[in-house]
Amino acid sequence: MADYTLGILGGGQLARMMAIAGQPLGVDVIAIEPAVDEYGRCSASGWSNVEVIPARFDDTEALATLARRCDAVTVETENVPVASLEWLAARVPTRPGAAAVAATQDRLVEKRALRAAGILTAPFDEVDRYLDQVPALVKTRTGGYDGKGQRFVADLAALSEAREELSPAIVEGLVPFDRELSIVAARGLDGSIAAYPLVENIHRAGILRRTTAPANVSDIQQEHAVAMVSSLMEQLDYVGVLAIELFDVGGQLIANEVAPRVHNSGHWTIEGAETSQFEQHVRAALGMPLGSATLRIPSVMINLIGACPDPREIAAAKNAEWHSYAKAPRPGRKIGHITISCDDPVEMAAQVAWCESLLLE
Ligand code: AMP
Repeated sequence: MADYTLGILGGGQLARMMAIAGQPLGVDVIAIEPAVDEYGRCSASGWSNVEVIPARFDDTEALATLARRCDAVTVETENVPVASLEWLAARVPTRPGAAAVAATQDRLVEKRALRAAGILTAPFDEVDRYLDQVPALVKTRTGGYDGKGQRFVADLAALSEAREELSPAIVEGLVPFDRELSIVAARGLDGSIAAYPLVENIHRAGILRRTTAPANVSDIQQEHAVAMVSSLMEQLDYVGVLAIELFDVGGQLIANEVAPRVHNSGHWTIEGAETSQFEQHVRAALGMPLGSATLRIPSVMINLIGACPDPREIAAAKNAEWHSYAKAPRPGRKIGHITISCDDPVEMAAQVAWCESLLLE
C-alpha cells in the first residue's frame, strides 16, 4: 500500500522520472497517456509503482479514475485540455492549477503574463502593436515545442506568408543573445520557493542538446532570475516546479518561454542537486514540504536524441549516469540523457567532449 497516489496527465519520460523520484517517498503513480505502443506501454510504464491508463486527456472515465483514486493530480505537459484540469480541480487537488497551465499554452497569453509579472520579453506583436519588422520569428501561439511551429523570416513577404500559414501566430523580434540560460524553481503549497542555480543551455535545430549546471553567472544575475521566477509563480498562484527559458543579452535576462512542469534543463538535478526537480514536483503536488535546491556537484546533462550510442560505451564513461527513457528511437526524438558530474573542470570538459563524440544525431 502506498502512502500517496499521484495522478499524472502524461506518461512520457517526465512522468517516468517523477515516478522514480516518488517511489522512495511511498508514492504510487497513475498516468493517463494517449500515445501507448501496441502492448499498452509508454515511457512511464514498467515501474512497480506506476499504472498507466491508455486514454485521451479528455476521457471522462480515465479522469474519473484519477479523481477517485489520487491524493493529487499533476501534469507532465502543458498541452492538456484546460477543461480536463478544471473538471479534476473540482474533485481532487490539481497542482499546478488549470489557470496557470492555461497561461502557458498560448504564447501570447504567456508573454502577457510574463510582462504583467514585471519580466522582460522579446518585442512581440499584439502588445507592441503589429510588429512588422524583419528579421523576425513567427511562432504558432499554441502547440509548438522543440523549435516546431516557428519560422525565421528575413523579409516582409515571408513574414506575412508565415503569419498566415502558422495562424494563429505571434511575431517576435530576434534577440541577439550571447547565450541561453534557464531557471528552474519549485513553489510549495505553503508558498515557499526553492530555486536551482541558473543553468546554461545549448540548442541545435530548436532542440536542447546540453545543459551546464551551474551557469557561469554573477550573483546579481542569479538573484534577478530568482526574483523573476518567484514573481511569476506568485502571480500564477503556482504550486509545483516551473521553468523559464531565458536569453542573456550582455548580462540582461530576457524571458523566452515558460514550462509549467519539470523541465529538460533540470534533469541534471537528479545527480547534481540536493533534491531533484522530480522529487520537488512530487512533493509540491502532494502538499509536502520542499527539499533543498542547493547544488551538490557541478553537472553537465547531454540529451540523447534520435538514436542511442552503444550502451557499453556510455556505461564505461566515468562520472556519467545514463538515463534511458525506454522510447523507440526516431529522428529528433529525445530518448534518454547522460549526466556527467564532476568537481574538476578540466576532467569535466574532457568527459563532456568524449560523451558528445558518441552522439549519433
Ligand atoms: P522556443 O520554441 O520559443 O523555445 O524557441 C526555440 C529556440 O529558438 C530558442 O531556444 C532559441 O534558440 C531560438 N529563439 C526563440 N525565440 C527567439 C528570439 N526571439 N530571438 C532569437 N532566437 C530565438
